[in-house]
Amino acid sequence: MSERLVVLGSKGGPAIRPGGPSPTASLLEIGGRRIVIDCGLGVSRGLVEAGMALPELDLVLITHLHSDHVLELGPLIHTAWTAGLKTPVEVWGPKGTQAVWDGFLASLAYDIDLRIDDEGRPDIRDLVRVREFGEGVLIDSEGLTIEALRVDHPPVTDCFALRITHEGRVIVFSADTAYFPPLAEFARGADILVHEAMHPDGVDRLVARTRNGERLKAHLLASHTMAADVGRIATQAQAGHLVLNHLVPADDPQITEADWTRELSATWNGPLTIGRDGLSLPLPASKPQRKSA
Ligand SMILES: [Zn+2]
Ligand SMILES: [Zn+2]
Repeated sequence: MSERLVVLGSKGGPAIRPGGPSPTASLLEIGGRRIVIDCGLGVSRGLVEAGMALPELDLVLITHLHSDHVLELGPLIHTAWTAGLKTPVEVWGPKGTQAVWDGFLASLAYDIDLRIDDEGRPDIRDLVRVREFGEGVLIDSEGLTIEALRVDHPPVTDCFALRITHEGRVIVFSADTAYFPPLAEFARGADILVHEAMHPDGVDRLVARTRNGERLKAHLLASHTMAADVGRIATQAQAGHLVLNHLVPADDPQITEADWTRELSATWNGPLTIGRDGLSLPLPASKPQRKSA
């Protein structure tokens, strides 16, 4: 299996527009695992387009319960199930994730029961295990370590950055967060840091064309990170490669890759990739394990 990071959905916020990008979701293929990070609208389509067979789904991580990160969780697993999923799926998410899954199952009970009877499928309720997590180590087995750090995303209190390590490779996802300096320590030495980002000019343009613009602007400023500050985090973390995602705005033709790059030029001078749907990055080869002294 190739080891890669695929940005499936690169935009921040739940809206979709003609020809535009999808809300947040990523795929990390590492150490034989297929890890889906966040399940915004479009994640199932994104995985298929990325070449993943949906029945191979095995691990899903949800950073927080804003709909642009969780709306398609149930539909993804259900679609994998109708495509032939027979093996267990673990879903890790903050407090409330079990209720999201249970609510989805309740809403689809008619179809699920019908397909079990009519098509002889295994019971989807037995295949999925939801694990609610807080800060700390979620998983540490078979060389895969996943840790969570609570970040600053008001009014959501349970929002977690994720640090995923396998054979010396480290990939960190910021989740949604305001500028949060402790994230630099959490992301220390990451080979790839995937960080959310806002563009100041784009935010002004977005706010100008939105009905409740002032409230939207206040939320964005309190809960998300300007691109220049993302550069500060990446520099302090000594990240190997910075990938911007959860772009705000993501679909304003006036805000180009060059504009994002310029915004970061004063605070980050390492490798930079501006996220877009379908973007695939190979992971570095596994590194010899550092022995602890
Ligand atoms: Zn979001
Ligand atoms: Zn959010």
